[in-house]
Amino acid sequence: METTRSEQLFKKAVDLIPGGVNSPVRAFGNVGMTPRFIASASGVYLTDADGNKYLDYVGSWGPMILGHTREDVLEKVFEACKKGLSFGAATEAEVEMAELICSMVPSIEMVRMVNSGTEAVMSAIRAARGYTGRNKIIKFEGCYHGHSDALLVKAGSGVMTAGVPDSSGVPAGATEDTLLAPYNDLEAVERLFDTWGSGIAAVIVEPVGANMGVVPPKKDFLEGLRRLCTENGSLLIFDEVITGFRLARGGAQEYFGIQADLTTYGKIIGGGMPVGAYGGRRDIMEVVSPVGQVYQAGTLSGNPVAMAAGLTQLRYLNAHPEVYTHLEALGERLYGGMEKLCQELKLPYQINHVGSLGCMFFTEQPVVDYTSAKSSDTKAFAAYFRYMLDHGIYLASSQFEAMFLSDAHTDEQVDETLSIMRNYFEKTVQN
Ligand code: PMP
Repeated sequence: METTRSEQLFKKAVDLIPGGVNSPVRAFGNVGMTPRFIASASGVYLTDADGNKYLDYVGSWGPMILGHTREDVLEKVFEACKKGLSFGAATEAEVEMAELICSMVPSIEMVRMVNSGTEAVMSAIRAARGYTGRNKIIKFEGCYHGHSDALLVKAGSGVMTAGVPDSSGVPAGATEDTLLAPYNDLEAVERLFDTWGSGIAAVIVEPVGANMGVVPPKKDFLEGLRRLCTENGSLLIFDEVITGFRLARGGAQEYFGIQADLTTYGKIIGGGMPVGAYGGRRDIMEVVSPVGQVYQAGTLSGNPVAMAAGLTQLRYLNAHPEVYTHLEALGERLYGGMEKLCQELKLPYQINHVGSLGCMFFTEQPVVDYTSAKSSDTKAFAAYFRYMLDHGIYLASSQFEAMFLSDAHTDEQVDETLSIMRNYFEKTVQN
C-alpha cells in the first residue's frame, strides 16, 4: 500500500503539533505505524491522502452512525451556512434540538448544548455538585469522561493506551474529591457510600464501558447504582457520549431500562460537528445559570451549523426505529462471527459486545473491568491492527477502544471483514 503522502504529512506534523495529531489516539504510535491522513469519506469508506480506500469501523469515534457525507445532512448544513456561521444569540434550531432530545429520552426535561463531550461531563458534574451541595463523585476505573482535571484518574481510552494512569499537570487538589471503584463492582460502590454517603454528589458511569475496549455492565450493576444513588440522595449521571442515540433511540437508559438523573452527550447529537450536551430533571437543570447559581457558558454553544447537522441526523434516527434493529443485527453478525472464528481456530480471545459496539481482547480471561482489560496482549493487538489496515479495514488503533458499526454498513461488508480476519488468524495460528 502506497503511504508516501501520509508519511510526508506526518513528518511535517510532528514538528508543528504535539505528536503530529490533535488527539492522542490518532497517532498510531502504540501500533508502531504512521497514521493515515484522511482526505475524504463517503458512506462507510475513508480515503487517505495517498488515495487508499478503507472500510471504516471508527466512524469518527461514534458520531457517524448513519455513515459519512449523507446528502440530507450536508444539505441542511449548507443551508445553515448560508444564513450565517454563528450569531452568539438564541436561535430556533436550539429550541428544536432541545425539544427533540427531551422527546427521545424520558429522563431529560431540560438540556443545555455545549461543544464537546468533555465540556458536557465537566458541566454536569458542576451542576450535580451545585444541586446537592456536596463535593465527592464516584467514577469507575477505565471509564473515560473527557479530559477535565477531576476526571483524569484511571481514565481509560488514550491515557490507557499510552500507559498513563493519571495525567501529569493535574493538581492533586483537583482529584481529591474523585472516588474510584472498579467497573461492575457494586460492593466497592457500597463501601464508598458507607464511608462517604452524605458527601457524595454523584456517581458517573459509562453505562457500557467503551473506553477500555468494550465492557458490558453486569446484570444488576446499573440497577444497583440507581438504587444506591436514590438511597443516599446522590445523583446518577450516565455518560452517554458513546451510547446515547446509539444503543437505542433513548440510548442506554432505554436499552437497560434505567433512568439517570443527569445525562451527558456528544458525538451523535452533532452528526460530525463539535457538539455536546447535558440534561436531566428540571429541578436539577434549573441550578444552571442564568436560572440558578451554577455558572456555565459558551461562545459557540448551540452553533447553528452544528445544530443543523445534529438535528438532521437525530431526526432521522427518531423517525427510523429500524436503524436500531439493523445495528443490533449487524452487531450480532460481526461480533458473533468473530466469536465463531475464535472458537473454530481455538483462539483464546474474548469478544465483548453490546449492540453495534464491540471489540476483541487478546486475553484468555473474561474482560469485566479495567484490570482484566489490561491483561490483553497489546502487541498481539498491534500486529492484528496492522494486518487489517493493510487489507483496507480501518479499526481504532488501540486495544482499549471500541469498533463502531453504522447503519450504512452492509452484511456483505461485515462478511468481507470477517474473512480478512480469518485469513489473518489462520496465518498466525499456523505459524
Ligand atoms: N465521555 C465518553 C464516554 C467518551 O467516550 C468521550 C470521548 N470519546 C468523552 C466523554 C469526551 O468527549 P470529547 O472527546 O467530545 O470531549
